[in-house]
Amino acid sequence: MPVIAPEKCNGCGLCVSVCYCHALIMVDNIVTIIEIEDCGWCTQCEAVCPTGAISCAFEIVIEEH
Ligand code: SF4
Ligand code: SF4
Repeated sequence: MPVIAPEKCNGCGLCVSVCYCHALIMVDNIVTIIEIEDCGWCTQCEAVCPTGAISCAFEIVIEEH
């Protein structure tokens, strides 16, 4: 699941707005994962976060030979 570093979150809400699965909400101005089973692992929350507060712990890389 995406890992949130709450001390880095500035409450901008960008990750919530890009999450097509609605897996994220804001609670007391800090993002929280509510529906982790709905997370499609699109990594958009990580990509959009300006402070690096969300990280998706791995990416699948397809290597071409
Ligand atoms: S990886 Fe995608 S689906 Fe999962 S919480 Fe982030 S934005 Fe939502
Ligand atoms: S995009 Fe980053 S800083 Fe903004 S609410 Fe989400 S986790 Fe917090």
